[in-house]
Amino acid sequence: MKREEVFNFSAGPSVLPTEVLEIAGRDILNYNGSGMSVMEMSHRSKVYLEIFESTKSKMKSVLSVPESHEVLFLQGGASLQFSMIPMNLMSELGKGKADYAVTGNFATVATKEAKKYGTINIAASSEDKNHTYIPAQSELKLSSDADYFYYCANNTIYGTEWQYIPETGSVPICCDMSSNILSKPVDVSKYGIIFAGAQKNMAPAGLTVVIIDKSLAGKEMPCTPLVMSYKTMIENDSMYNTPPCWNIYILGLVLDWLEKQGGVKGMEQIKTAKAALLYDYLDGSALFKACAEKGSRSDMNVTFRTGDEAKDEEFCKGATKLGLTNLKGHRKVGGMRASIYNAMPIEGVNKLVEFMKEFEVANRV
Ligand SMILES: *Cc1c(COP(=O)(O)O)cnc(C)c1O
Repeated sequence: MKREEVFNFSAGPSVLPTEVLEIAGRDILNYNGSGMSVMEMSHRSKVYLEIFESTKSKMKSVLSVPESHEVLFLQGGASLQFSMIPMNLMSELGKGKADYAVTGNFATVATKEAKKYGTINIAASSEDKNHTYIPAQSELKLSSDADYFYYCANNTIYGTEWQYIPETGSVPICCDMSSNILSKPVDVSKYGIIFAGAQKNMAPAGLTVVIIDKSLAGKEMPCTPLVMSYKTMIENDSMYNTPPCWNIYILGLVLDWLEKQGGVKGMEQIKTAKAALLYDYLDGSALFKACAEKGSRSDMNVTFRTGDEAKDEEFCKGATKLGLTNLKGHRKVGGMRASIYNAMPIEGVNKLVEFMKEFEVANRV
């Protein structure tokens, strides 16, 4: 199939803007007259440092990151943050305490990981309804003496998204924004730590962006590996060891593209329109049903099903034939999942809805 014939709804790694790949392709053998690829240059060279600094400053500017916070470009995926956070924010092994909201798979994994380091209080869980909703502020059981509060802003597998920033008093908030970062403006000052694996909405897999309130660094457990210490990474501008150079370069190109779409404000309008197309259709459909409850639905990962596994499979097969790929839901949920990250054009969503309508007519009971 040709790229133009495919709309890729993959949950991650996910579609990147074609324009970005074209630029990267054009420059792959010779970046900006340097005679080499970005993959081949020293991370301490002048030419690379320019890429690094400009990407970092674009990241700060697009999310209006305040002076109090630093942007880090790390490795280890979003998953490594599941242990970096407790190791850095609880100062003594076994003595720390944190509150976790368990609203899906990745928050569950993060909770398990954190339990290795300290006492974890489950502030809320949506497991009773198979993670189809987000708990309300009034349902959060918070501890005023917690080292931090943790939640996952967008649950990639279940298709739910927090519609509010939890109020935690003076307890710092740590948030996994892997699958909705850069999809809308965010008040960074309300967070202690925001982190995101790049492969959903930013760049290829292998880069994790961390935005951290610098006052939280430097209290890590003595056993914390140096590359897992926020303090080490802040002091060395993410270059204590070799950073994921190529991915940072691609992120810079994605941020240029994002700016042309109107930044995160522009992105918010676009993603709201794209998600509304799908949810409006789903809510009126006699065949398909949205999995997530109204008021908790994700604008990035839209989960839905027919209720009949064979039909779901038939739907995914038919969609793939039309170039609507990777719509199969995660095995934990079944059904379908349309991941409609920033780089998914609205045309892709329109084409998907058209096919859903056709499929519904053909399968009318
Ligand atoms: C994909 C994803 C992860 C896991 O990311 P890795 O980079 O594979 O470790 C964690 N949290 C969320 C919300 C995700 O979507």
